[in-house]
Amino acid sequence: MEFIFDTHAHYDDPAFDADRFDFLKCLQNHGIKGIVNVGADIKTSQLSIKYAERFNDVFAAVGMHPQNVGSLPDNYLDILEKLAKKERVVALGEIGLDYHYDTVDKNLQQRCFEEQLELAKNLNLPAIIHSRDAAEDTLGIIKNVKPPKFVVHCFSYSLEIAKQLVALDCYFGFTGVVTFKNAKKPVEVLKKVPLNRILVETDCPYMAPEPNRGKRCDSSMLKFTVQKIAQVKEQQNSEMIEILNKNASEFYKINI
Ligand SMILES: [Zn+2]
Repeated sequence: MEFIFDTHAHYDDPAFDADRFDFLKCLQNHGIKGIVNVGADIKTSQLSIKYAERFNDVFAAVGMHPQNVGSLPDNYLDILEKLAKKERVVALGEIGLDYHYDTVDKNLQQRCFEEQLELAKNLNLPAIIHSRDAAEDTLGIIKNVKPPKFVVHCFSYSLEIAKQLVALDCYFGFTGVVTFKNAKKPVEVLKKVPLNRILVETDCPYMAPEPNRGKRCDSSMLKFTVQKIAQVKEQQNSEMIEILNKNASEFYKINI
């Protein structure tokens, strides 16, 4: 059996309240080698660290999601820096821009994204970027800050944008969305991006792949996403898993 590494999950979500720890303590029973639990505000970043300190195969990312930057304390960057320096933290995220809902001021989102991306650069941590309906501004800030290593997770943009990001040495995160029947754009992008720049993720509890679309997602469903990626990239399943684990290992600088 091949074990897969889940590069982006949210086990802090209330959807896992009933079985979170049962799941995290025996990841291998679910075909999973390890996961990165990704924070979206101060509380979930702290929880990510807590899980990572408790379970060997769990790692933490800390960051403020663009939808949550409207309610941050003034000293949020100091708080974040302290969290980011904890031993089990392997990345800064998720940070970025989300213009899909008109709830958080765009200027504020841009400022917080840029500040956190700078912090990632200063701490030499990879950045996990969330970007929705904000391709141009995201590209602008990335070009400005020049982070050493970053992924645009749950990639949803066009091939045109992907090409610009490839030139900036971007990693691309693919979720269960690539298994959806109407997922033309991400599959087209997946086809074209370099093999060594692909990361696989659940983004659970969201984005459950077919045949589980619409259900609560967990890391055990990652195999369906990997199968689709292998098919699109014309690789054997086991080879694809090896490539994806190597990519995750290089991105997060951890032994997988
Ligand atoms: Zn996420």
